Amino acid sequence: MVERVQAVRGMNDILPEAVPWWQMVEATAREVLELYGYREIRTPLVEKLELFARSIGESTDIVEKEMYAFADRKGQWLALRPEATASVVRAFIEHNLQADPLARKFYTIGPMFRHERPQKGRYRQFHQIDAEVFGIDDPLLDAELMVMLCDFLERIGLADVALHINSLGCPACRPSFREDLKRFLHHRAPSLCPDCDRRRHVNPLRVFDCKVDRCREALTGAPQLLDHLCEDCARHFEKVQSYLGGLGVPFMVDPRMVRGLDYYMRTTFEVITDRLGAQNAVGGGGRYDGLMRDLGGPDLPGIGFAIGMERLILLLQQGRSLQGPAPEVFMAVLGEKAVSEAFRTAQALRRSGLGVEMAYGGGSLKSQMRRADKLAAAYVVILGEEELQRGVAVVRNMKEKSQKEVPLSGLVEFFSRRDGSSGGAPDRAQEPV
Ligand code: ATP
Ligand code: MG
Repeated sequence: MVERVQAVRGMNDILPEAVPWWQMVEATAREVLELYGYREIRTPLVEKLELFARSIGESTDIVEKEMYAFADRKGQWLALRPEATASVVRAFIEHNLQADPLARKFYTIGPMFRHERPQKGRYRQFHQIDAEVFGIDDPLLDAELMVMLCDFLERIGLADVALHINSLGCPACRPSFREDLKRFLHHRAPSLCPDCDRRRHVNPLRVFDCKVDRCREALTGAPQLLDHLCEDCARHFEKVQSYLGGLGVPFMVDPRMVRGLDYYMRTTFEVITDRLGAQNAVGGGGRYDGLMRDLGGPDLPGIGFAIGMERLILLLQQGRSLQGPAPEVFMAVLGEKAVSEAFRTAQALRRSGLGVEMAYGGGSLKSQMRRADKLAAAYVVILGEEELQRGVAVVRNMKEKSQKEVPLSGLVEFFSRRDGSSGGAPDRAQEPV
């Protein structure tokens, strides 16, 4: 027996039957992001390892444990990107985009890689919709970014998610909080997991992000960053909340939320669901005002978010199905002599914008009709040798189960005229049923 090669663990094929969901989510994301003035940027999947180590933070889970890092043939350390922000910031700096007044708001959609334990909603290759804005520190933008995220989720049909927000302070107010927290964690050390016992020295805020139950319990009564915010950060956070409130966007302040990347400051947020078990975050983001400067670029503020597409689609699929495109026309052929004309006819119909599937290999009319039925074709065009001689084809409307003869030369016009339909089968993928 020949041994089969299988996909890499945690890396999924997205099969044609699932693709309509992906296309719907992507198309809606592009539409919404562009309405808010975001422009697409595409960066490589592979970057220098250093880019992620420096931006995300050496003592984060992503950099410590989850990175797909490797040395190339010349011994240069590279990594498959675990997230998009660092790459977009790098590209912005590298191409001097601050000189372009249009280059403020960016988005990118694509695969990310993290070596995590695969489970439902957690994979090693997964996809994100990612938005980033540079050069604007107005809290109005923080609010707009979250409003946009909610707008997008509503449009794809996900209304039952919760927006959690927090402020992580800034380099002026975070150090005193860190010291407070360190003192608190010192007393709780025996209850912490080995990872957190180490984190409390190098990066105590990370303990808030631990998913181990006993660490979560140990944090009861921990000091809160919101009580330590400096005046500027407090005012910024107040404004974000009042702008959100002004639009009637429901949100919850979650003083424990820190997010898994070190570059965040001030506003952070997450979109949470209670329908995916432990994988409860659909997306998240926040401000990272020091990152551009830390990566050697201009000192411009930044803010962004990333949405996990697999989790979104798992949620959307619960109890619903989305029809993929079906051919508008199935071209049935009877007899060898009719094949060439049927092929020509199919091409003419496709050029007019109709989806056409052919009856490859011929067979009986009955078997061809069965196949047309399975494909859910709206019409079958039947061309036999006898019709060919008379220059006509039989057009069968599969839904109404009626049929009529149409001259071959008038087929394109026949389909373009029929009851207001525009052809173009892909439209059907847009509507959840
Ligand atoms: P989690 O806490 O669930 O590990 P995270 O904080 O690591 O998430 P981010 O780095 O903020 O996630 O990425 C944003 C979004 O990307 C997440 O909210 C989630 O929807 C998605 N995501 C992150 N890691 C994975 C993964 N391994 N598989 C699938 N989706 C993921
Ligand atoms: Mg994670």
